[in-house]
Amino acid sequence: MVSSESRIIIIGGGAWGLSTALYLTEAGYSDVTILDRAEAILSPYSAAYDLNKIVRAEYEGGFYSKLALEAIEGWKTPLFGPYHHQTGHVIVTTGRAPEKAVTYLERALASIEKDPALAQRI
Ligand SMILES: Cc1cc2nc3c(=O)[nH]c(=O)nc-3n(C[C@H](O)[C@H](O)[C@H](O)COP(=O)(O)OP(=O)(O)OC[C@H]3O[C@@H](n4cnc5c(N)ncnc54)[C@H](O)[C@@H]3O)c2cc1C
Repeated sequence: MVSSESRIIIIGGGAWGLSTALYLTEAGYSDVTILDRAEAILSPYSAAYDLNKIVRAEYEGGFYSKLALEAIEGWKTPLFGPYHHQTGHVIVTTGRAPEKAVTYLERALASIEKDPALAQRI
């Protein structure tokens, strides 16, 4: 049985590990430790060790689009807001693209074009 005083160890202080630690501590868990192979956080071994990242909502499946839309709202909160810059982006392909690429774009567009938050901005 895990209680708010339980000792929780997270292996890996990358995107998931840090996020898990943040939300656990916000939820009241008081003894959370992150172990990482790197000497410092953010670990240079993390795939998230970068100057910038893109968050987008168009995915082939509705589940990911919904999740991404929730994440984008999270990026607008006071903690993350200073690091979130809504710039927009362009996704293109050519008329000679393989059918797989065209189908992907069509499905990605379909996954967001009815979303009330995005429909007017596509
Ligand atoms: C070039 C590139 C660009 C990307 N661009 C985007 C983007 O624009 N938008 C986006 O949403 N996602 C992007 N991603 C994906 C995103 O970075 C990853 O999905 C995310 O970092 C995964 O998080 P994670 O916690 O699973 O792994 P990581 O962030 O890689 O964290 C893993 C952690 O585990 C540690 N570790 C490894 N082995 C051990 C061990 N044996 N013991 C202890 N610790 C260990 C590492 O040091 C690291 O800190 C990109 C990825 C790459 C590589």
